Amino acid sequence: MKKIPLHIQIILGLVSGIAFGIASIVFGWPAKFTVYWIAPVGTVFINSLKMIAVPLVIASLISGVANLGDVSKLSRIGGKTIGFYLLTTVIATTIGLVVVNVLQPGTILPAETRDELLELYKSDAGNREQTVEGIRDQSPLQPLVDMVPQNVFKATTINEGMLQVVFFSLLMGVALLKIPPEKGKPVIQFFAALNDVIIKIVEFIMIIAPYGVFALMAALIVDLAGENPDRAWQLLTALGAYTGTVLLGLGAMIFAVYPLLFKLFTRVKYKNFFKGIRPAQLLAFSTSSSSATLPVTMRQVEEELGVSEEVSSFVLPLGATINMDGTSLYQSVAAVFIAQALGLGLTIGDQVMIVMTATLASIGSAGVPGAGLVMLIIVLESIGVPSAGIALIIAPDRLLDMVRTVVNVTGDATVTMIVASTEGEDPHRPEHLD
Ligand code: ASP
Repeated sequence: MKKIPLHIQIILGLVSGIAFGIASIVFGWPAKFTVYWIAPVGTVFINSLKMIAVPLVIASLISGVANLGDVSKLSRIGGKTIGFYLLTTVIATTIGLVVVNVLQPGTILPAETRDELLELYKSDAGNREQTVEGIRDQSPLQPLVDMVPQNVFKATTINEGMLQVVFFSLLMGVALLKIPPEKGKPVIQFFAALNDVIIKIVEFIMIIAPYGVFALMAALIVDLAGENPDRAWQLLTALGAYTGTVLLGLGAMIFAVYPLLFKLFTRVKYKNFFKGIRPAQLLAFSTSSSSATLPVTMRQVEEELGVSEEVSSFVLPLGATINMDGTSLYQSVAAVFIAQALGLGLTIGDQVMIVMTATLASIGSAGVPGAGLVMLIIVLESIGVPSAGIALIIAPDRLLDMVRTVVNVTGDATVTMIVASTEGEDPHRPEHLD
């Protein structure tokens, strides 16, 4: 296995996992075998990535900020980073709105199918609604309140706490810049070393990546087929236009928007970037989690694409938490699709509202599977579309989650390359990749 490049190994794992899953259904192999003997390998793999996500964010952000050396550099890089993250997110939501308004996938959903879907996924949708029940009647300043943890150790133990962890780590990095250097030095060195240790652990974990991805895909297929494959297939085809619309928008980000940004702001060839970032994209696809993919994104961006640790250790962990272009695009398409399917007209004001709330909701979405679907409820609420409508789009959500996570991760890496280029770096792809 040694000489096969990582992304080929992962692709092999991915394809053979899907093939195994399909074969086990076609030949009627007991699902128990997959569940008992294969799925755990995937769980071990994804858990080990998640295991290091929190320490990685803490170590890389603290050392990333502290190593910038002074606050003015921090505000320059920080300003650019946030600016580009917002820009790409707003472009994504806008593209989402354009495709869904032009293609109108919601208007062709037969009323019968719509009622069936609403009935079928009623309880599922209800559960998710409860999750955000509390959010609904809150002050518009609530996201600000949520960012500041009451207890930073507790924040490190929950998915939703990542933004709080980011906040605390940034604060700690800034404080380290503000105390006398001789006092701050040991702490900075500690976190810098911790960062290197974690990157080393990522290398260990990547040894099992192909097997982990095989197991994740095989288990996913068996799991999906378990819930009445014929029915699932019917619903998927009924929702084909919606799925196609989201995929078209996501494709536009990867094949038009990011390449354009590369052209405008860097000297890097998009093709070379794409080659370097591929392993991270494949992992994003198979884990549906940008947090779990973060360690690999960092490794690829630094080692294969030659971005300095200074930039990547600040820009990427921030992006994995707040920049989700794929999620915001998906949320705007889904919101309008549901409104169309339920026959509710949307004004221009509603559409502007969608851009705003989808941007905020994607910032607030944790980088874990399914987070975007839950946060979609906030977008629906803001335009007065009943949130039970998410029942309409739950069926293909697993697939869309995989693809939007790829876009989320690619967007983070794109902005990292841009920030590095505008900081005078000349990120490139080392010869050995040619
Ligand atoms: N799964 C996505 C991510 O981790 C979030 C989402 O849209 O559900 O990036």
